Amino acid sequence: MDNKTAVAAGVMLPVMEAFYTIQGEGTFSGHAAYFIRLGGCDVGCVWCDVKDSWESEKWPVLSIEEIVAQAKSFPGRKVVITGGEPLMYNLDSLTALLKQEGFVTHIETSGAHPFSGDFDWVCFSPKKFKAPHQSIYAVANELKVVVFHKSDFEFAEKHASLVNRDCKLLLQPEWSKANVFTNQIIDYVKSHPNWNISLQTHKFMDIP
Ligand code: SF4
Repeated sequence: MDNKTAVAAGVMLPVMEAFYTIQGEGTFSGHAAYFIRLGGCDVGCVWCDVKDSWESEKWPVLSIEEIVAQAKSFPGRKVVITGGEPLMYNLDSLTALLKQEGFVTHIETSGAHPFSGDFDWVCFSPKKFKAPHQSIYAVANELKVVVFHKSDFEFAEKHASLVNRDCKLLLQPEWSKANVFTNQIIDYVKSHPNWNISLQTHKFMDIP
């Protein structure tokens, strides 16, 4: 099987970087986690802070066995698959192997591609730049909307009306606009208490 076929089958994947750190955002903020950042994204957010990830060809293609072996060298057993946009790939084989090795699996996705994989926690962060695939709404455990513009509150409510009732609802100020929107988010959450605030605490801690 050549690399292209193996990537299409999800048994090899382009890995931009993988690192053991503290999850900075969302429900599991403060938890130790091993991040696997897959290369490749076709969403095109103007404020993306990992634009380097967009071209999948730039990154080494690793077998899922190599990816999982590297993850096992750290003491934590929580893995976060992120990107880029990780659902550009079929994640069934990677997550099956991670689970077989005792990992709890999380994903952070814009939902712009059909859902795949066996995940214990799905963080769905929709973007205006590419509409989500319908398959994400039933499986999202956390809806995390990055607030970059005042219209993002309405965008957040639109997606909140489509996810499960027990899906956590989070508003997160985009880092460069935090001084503009943090106070608005605080006011919004006080008047719409079904929402919570997520902050990029890893940036305050100056960790990846
Ligand atoms: S979906 Fe994520 S990786 Fe892709 S452009 Fe948007 S912020 Fe960047």
